Order: sequence, then C-alpha cells, then structure tokens
Amino acid sequence: MNEEQTALFTIFGATGDLAQRKLYPSLFRLFRKGFIKEHFAVIGTARREWSDDYYREIVTTSINSLKPTEEEAKAFASHFYYQSHDVTDTTHYTNLKNLADKLDAEYNLEGNRLFYLAMAPNFFGTIVNHLSSEKIMTENGFNRLVIEKPFGTSYETAAELNEQIRAVFSEDQIFRIDHYLGKEMIQNISAVRFGNNIFESLWNNRYIDNIQVTLAEDLGVEERGGYYDKSGALKDMIQNHILQVVALLAMEAPNNFTEKEIREEKIKALNAVKIYNEQEALDNFVRGQYVANRFKNEDIISYVDEPNVNPESRTETFVAGKLEINNFRWKGVPFYIRTGKQLSTKAARINIVFKATPTNIFSQEDICEKLPQNILTIYIQPTEGFSLSLNGKEPGPGFEIDPVKLDFRTPTDVVANSPEAYEKLILDALQGDATNFTHWDEVSQSWRIVDVIRQAWDNDSQPIPTYPAGTMGPAEAFDLLAKDQHEWVYKPDEWYREHGLL
Ligand code: NAD
Repeated sequence: MNEEQTALFTIFGATGDLAQRKLYPSLFRLFRKGFIKEHFAVIGTARREWSDDYYREIVTTSINSLKPTEEEAKAFASHFYYQSHDVTDTTHYTNLKNLADKLDAEYNLEGNRLFYLAMAPNFFGTIVNHLSSEKIMTENGFNRLVIEKPFGTSYETAAELNEQIRAVFSEDQIFRIDHYLGKEMIQNISAVRFGNNIFESLWNNRYIDNIQVTLAEDLGVEERGGYYDKSGALKDMIQNHILQVVALLAMEAPNNFTEKEIREEKIKALNAVKIYNEQEALDNFVRGQYVANRFKNEDIISYVDEPNVNPESRTETFVAGKLEINNFRWKGVPFYIRTGKQLSTKAARINIVFKATPTNIFSQEDICEKLPQNILTIYIQPTEGFSLSLNGKEPGPGFEIDPVKLDFRTPTDVVANSPEAYEKLILDALQGDATNFTHWDEVSQSWRIVDVIRQAWDNDSQPIPTYPAGTMGPAEAFDLLAKDQHEWVYKPDEWYREHGLL
C-alpha cells in the first residue's frame, strides 16, 4: 500500500515541453499508484492566457499514452488549476498566493508546497525572491524547490544562481534535478558494487585497468538547436550526467546507504578528480562536431546546417576525455568518458575493464596468444542489466580458450513497468529524499572540473575535429585511448559498417 503524500505543486513553465512530456505523465503515474490521491493540487503557471478547462485538456492529452480510463483522467485532471503569470510581474504573485491558499484549504494540503521551476534558469532568482517576499511559502508545512538543469553555465554563474536561491531556500529544501540519477540502472550501480563482494573487493587500481562511460545519442539537436549551440556537449552532458555517474562508480562505500552518507562519498570522489591545466585539458579531452553523412539509408545534415545553429558554429556535439582520480583507490586508472549526438546508436553503458591475468600460461602452448580481459558491463539504456565476460574452455576434444558472457538483462516488460526517472524523482522530492539530486558541492566541483576544459577549447583556434554522422566520434577520440594502449570496448559503429549501413 503506497502512502499518500499531501502537497500543492506549483509548476512554473506549465505550458512548456518538459511539463507536458515529463511532469504531467509522471504525476499521473504517481496518482495511479496512490502516492497522490485526494490531498494534492497542481497550479500550472506560464505567460499564456489559458483557462482551467483548457489546461485540464492539455494535461489529459499529455497522459494519453498511459491509457487512462475516462474516469481516471477526469479525476486526475480535476486537481489542476491554471494561473496566467509573468514571473517578472510582482502583482501576479498576489493572485498566485490567493489561489495557493484557497487550494490549501480546499484540499487540506497542510501547507506542504513543492515549487517546480520548469523554466529557463535566468528566471530562477526572481521567482524565488517573490515566493519569499509575497509569502507564498508557508510556515506550517514543507517548502521545497525543484530545479531543472542547467544549473549555471560555469562555476561563476552557478555560484551566483546558488546564492540567489540560498537567500530564500536552505540546501535541504533544494532539489536539483539530474534525471539520469533517477534511472533504475544508475541507482543499481551501488547495488552491483556494494551488494557483491566479488566486485567490491576488486574495485580498485590493483584489479581494474580502466573504466569507460558512454552516453551516446543517435539524434541531432532537433528543435533545440538554439539552446544547444550555446551549450555544447561538455556543459549539456559531461558537467552533470557523466560526472555524476563517475562519482557513483568511484566513491568509497558509504557507512550506510543514506542520503547524507552517499552524498558525502560522492563529493569526496569528485574532489579527487584531477582538475587539469589548459594544456592537460587539450591533451586529455577531445571534442568533435558531426558532419553530413548517409547512415542507415538516410541522409543526415551537418550540425552547422541544423535550424537555429550558427553556420560558423564551433560548438562541440561530441566529447571524449580521460579523467584521473588521484586517490588511493584509483590512482593510475583512467576513467574514459564519451558522449555525443548523431552517433551510431542510442545507448548508455559502463564498461569496467579488469586487468589482464598476471601471466598468460596458455600463450606458449599456442592456445591463446592474448587472453581477453574480463569486463563487467552495466547497461543503462536502452536495455538495463549487466554482463560479465569471462574466459572458459571451448567444449570439445582440444583445448581452446573461448570467451563467454554471463548476461543479465531486465525483462522488457519489467523495464516498461518500472518507474520513469521523473516519476521517481518527483516522489523523492515529495518524500524529502535528496539522494538522487545534486548537492551544491557536487555541482560546484563539477563546474570546476569542466570550466578549464571549456577555457582551453575557447582559447584554441585549431579547427574542431569532425565526425560523420552515424559514427562514434572523430578519430581523435580513438587515438586518445590508443595512446594508453587501450581501446573503446563498445563499438556499435562496427556493426553498422559490417552490415553496409555506414
Ligand atoms: P519551454 O520553452 O518549452 O517552456 C518554457 C516555459 O516557460 C513555458 O511554459 C513558457 O510559457 C514559460 N515562460 C517563459 N517566460 C516566462 C515568463 N516571463 N513568465 C512566465 N512564464 C514564462 O522549455 P522546456 O523545454 O519545458 O524546459 C524548461 C526548463 O527545463 C529549461 O530550463 C530546460 O533547460 C530544462 N530542461 C528541459 C528538458 C526537456 O526535455 N524539455 C530536459 C532537461 C531540462
């Protein structure tokens, strides 16, 4: 039996893409499961003049794919109210307060308020100031602020934004969303590591050769060209999602699996990531931009020809890099990371490559010249699960070494029914659990790591390496590992090449 939560949600940016694609469906899933039932209400705000009825129609349409019954959809949508609101206009907050107080009394919401800022970050400061000055925050219940990425565009801007927010909300009232942290398999990293002695006891520089994190996308910038051209892959993916994954992989075991202790360990891990100087950044990080190509029988245009992208743009759509973590556990183990748009496939996975056996006793007998290294792969997307590659004997009269794979994938119907990342995160915020949100200390350290790479690239006038759309990035991304006598384990592009699709 799921415990009913009581709260008033105020969504800023209620007409936007995020609200319609993610927030309403996630709220509906929570409604269906009984986490929100009678004692909740949602105020949607944005500039447009919408009526409650029209807003409810939009909300109903946004949950269509979840196939609600007519009755369910109606009951759910009846909790939604719309308030036309320009966030820069103080008088509008008076209307908002009146509506909030009215709904609080009507639905018995006990003063619990969750403010969701699904808007561009340049409005965050003014919104939180007004929430406080116009007394929209309550004294009797909880007041929590959920914020979308990006949190700043550099350490400096993030610190400024943080200061504005912290003037009103304390750190434990702030929930900075990184939807990657809501994904089942990301949370499973800790289960795999700390629930299995065979892994955790090998989880260090004595047994691990290198770690690889790939978050690949198979689409271009679509209609987000304007936003993306100002951001690029480094800020859009590395600063948040990838560094969070690295922190979870690298952290020490927390004493207990609690929010505070996990967070402390993640922060320590991020603090141990070496901050490069500009030359080191150029040596250890590679950027790339996709160019037109024919892939899977389709013509894909170059990044610079995408709508709302500057035709002279030097924005990177791909990043690969090597991180060093300078502590006892990881010294000497490279963490290779890569992400990009228009790559061969959409996939997120982690490869933990174990060291080779100390000696290969099979080589002199010509059984096996080079023993494949054991690899633990954690699959995050599109399938979820993990596999371990081992070497065994090929069945039969002779003696040949044959690599085998122990492979577990969560069945697709379980994946389909498991909570969506946003659903999990909204429930966490309702329950006041910030484990899967990013703390300011993590955000700030991640910016420090990334800022110098940005600076190095901004000061570098060399042409940006390019890669044909549908491949796994520029040649430089492969050279980066080859320099260390390593290679990317995950090579989806080879499959497409072999099948004549690339
Ligand atoms: P969007 O442009 O679709 O929506 C923006 C919303 O803000 C609209 O409802 C608009 O009416 C409202 N708005 C703009 N100016 C306003 C003003 N002065 N007063 C009141 N309302 C105003 O944007 P989105 O894609 O929904 O993204 C919202 C935020 O979430 C952004 O910060 C974005 O970076 C972040 N985000 C979005 C996604 C996504 O999948 N769309 C994913 C991750 C993060």
